[in-house]
Amino acid sequence: MKAREFLKYFQDEQTKTLNLIREIVEIESPSRDIAGSRAVVEFLEKEVSKISSDFKVEKVFVENYGEHLIIRAFQLNEKPILVLGHTDTVHPRNTKEQNPTRIEGDKFYGCGIFDMKANVILVLEVLKAFTEFNIKPKRPITILLSCDEEIGSPTGRKLVEREAKRAEFCLVCEPSANGKVKTGRKGTGMFQLKTHGVPAHAGLEPEKGASAILEIACQIPKIHDLNDSENGTTANVCTISGGTTSNVIPEYAGCEIDVRFTSMREAERIENEIRNLKPFDNRIKIEIEGAINRPPMERTENVVKLYKKAKNLAAEFGYDLAETQVGGASDGNFVAALGVPVLDGLGVDGGGAHTLEEYIFVDDIPKRATLLALLLANE
Ligand SMILES: [Zn+2]
Repeated sequence: MKAREFLKYFQDEQTKTLNLIREIVEIESPSRDIAGSRAVVEFLEKEVSKISSDFKVEKVFVENYGEHLIIRAFQLNEKPILVLGHTDTVHPRNTKEQNPTRIEGDKFYGCGIFDMKANVILVLEVLKAFTEFNIKPKRPITILLSCDEEIGSPTGRKLVEREAKRAEFCLVCEPSANGKVKTGRKGTGMFQLKTHGVPAHAGLEPEKGASAILEIACQIPKIHDLNDSENGTTANVCTISGGTTSNVIPEYAGCEIDVRFTSMREAERIENEIRNLKPFDNRIKIEIEGAINRPPMERTENVVKLYKKAKNLAAEFGYDLAETQVGGASDGNFVAALGVPVLDGLGVDGGGAHTLEEYIFVDDIPKRATLLALLLANE
């Protein structure tokens, strides 16, 4: 089927697509919210069954996290294309009251609409187009929607890697960057620095105390010295806590460190520096937790090849597809580390990810659906 025919189809489908997007966004599903996760999965399972009874649906429930969903479409004797997405959002329950699901002008607002519930619907719309037009893609399609991506995929990672190992290539339906697909992503690490001091009465005998807060305050500039903008390495203390009450020398303080890098060598350097932090006050005990989480997604030759293919397909219907490299990581990082070609950021154009201003551009929906359909048809 030609690009312009797909585009026409998705334009005609637009009202139905918007309704489905509205429905899925309204089901709040913050990470670790079991009921929310199950409700989204149940909704998707029902929608998939309306498209075809031939698609295989597999649900993987993980205690304390939620439910992962795998959809296997078009059973063929070929290596599948893996499509990655997630059903969790960063928005706590009831946030939708602050960013109601609504269309204003050319923007469709909602919590988690851009990252990435609209894109989950897009994938289903493509499957629907294939069945309606009796299109047999060249390869089977495996869609994996995890429930814990926003918290670093502690349980989804295993499934992502398992499916990636079987796949020919991988399309990640994460948000685009101003419409650009992502051909490179930094790796990430999360560390916690904890300091344990000696408590004392702040008025009667402060000299007997060793302040955990003072210690952490001294450590923070050292952590910030790890930043190396030339190498693309960043290290930032993003939360801090400590102390009990105003008249006690604090016994405990802690902070969380966000680390990003473009190579594993840099990752190892930073990790080493953090693990070897020494206390300024020798009465204080330092404890380091956390680890490197996602390896970097490097812009390899295979990634560029896949991007060029997508760019050419987009050009068939007059859509200009640009690329970019970003600091944020996704499950695409795990796939790339296995040497499987990845194209990330295929989601609808929009903005405000992780904020109460989250939106997508309504007009971009049929275009992105067309691009996805062409990539998945893989002719
Ligand atoms: Zn996301």
